Amino acid sequence: MTRIAFLGLGDIGAPMAGHLAAAFELTVWNRTPARATAFVSAHRAQAAPTAAEAVRGAAVVASCLSTSSDVEAVVGAAASGLAADTIWVDFTSGDPATSQRIAARLAELGVPFLDAPVSGGTAGAQQGTLTIMLGGDPIVIERVRPVLNAVGKKIVHCGPIGAGDAVKAVNNALLAVNLWSAGEGLAALKKAGVSSAVALDVINASSGRSNATMTLIPERVASRAFPRTFRLALLDKDVGIAAQVARDQKVPSPLLQLTAELMRLAHVTLGEVADHAEAVKVIETWAGVEIS
Ligand code: NDP
Repeated sequence: MTRIAFLGLGDIGAPMAGHLAAAFELTVWNRTPARATAFVSAHRAQAAPTAAEAVRGAAVVASCLSTSSDVEAVVGAAASGLAADTIWVDFTSGDPATSQRIAARLAELGVPFLDAPVSGGTAGAQQGTLTIMLGGDPIVIERVRPVLNAVGKKIVHCGPIGAGDAVKAVNNALLAVNLWSAGEGLAALKKAGVSSAVALDVINASSGRSNATMTLIPERVASRAFPRTFRLALLDKDVGIAAQVARDQKVPSPLLQLTAELMRLAHVTLGEVADHAEAVKVIETWAGVEIS
């Protein structure tokens, strides 16, 4: 059976690795070993003490870390265990420039690289229904398709290395724009005497609706549940990447640049563990109303 190494058992990595454990021979590694220990006690998999040990003998290495810089560091640490023709698939929401640098480094070892960020949240990861957006060689994608099929439902080749990262960053920037603008609008309506429930009822049957108004705000903000599934720190990182992509391509992008500043401010205000939907709390504090 194909041997897979999975590096990074965070909120999204652990459920993805769970599907791979059911279909392949799996070795996992996590920087904080307790997460790997918990994973192997619940799945048919073994834990390796180092990234280099985890990747030794693997046909496919999958990673899902916070940032591309983290992946670059782990690639360096794992390099001594890599063999030519192993394929490295990085599910991190990364940045195109660093992914291109990682791909060049791995190419020197004969290891093809794909940037393969995912969308669908922890629910999609648990159900194995993620959208996967890929950058890299289509022939390499075909070689790892069974691995992609085990975790994803919609699998799209976006272009050369870095293209998956760029699409993911722009998608998440749109999420941030929708979330923030809906938060401002609902706060203003509340102060004007319209409850958030009534406003959302109208908006969600009208042209201003979005995933933020249909799902995030009703389920996380108006309910005051604020479950922690996708850290605001990671959304801040993603919108920063989208803003950088726009600057690199010399596209005038005042809204993306402002949204990156607002996400940075919310992240600094609310800290490392806050969920992305909690960004709306900054607007609530400024406005002196609760969106509920
Ligand atoms: P978490 O914060 O839950 O987990 C991050 C993981 O990366 C942990 O395993 C952590 O190890 C590891 N890590 C971070 N830095 C390093 C490093 N320098 N060296 C080694 N390991 C490191 O994040 P998520 O699982 O939520 O997110 C992972 C990626 O997936 C991110 O790029 C995110 O943007 C993206 N994503 C997340 C979604 C979500 O809903 N959560 C949805 C779609 C994409 P340790 O346990 O030691 O901290």
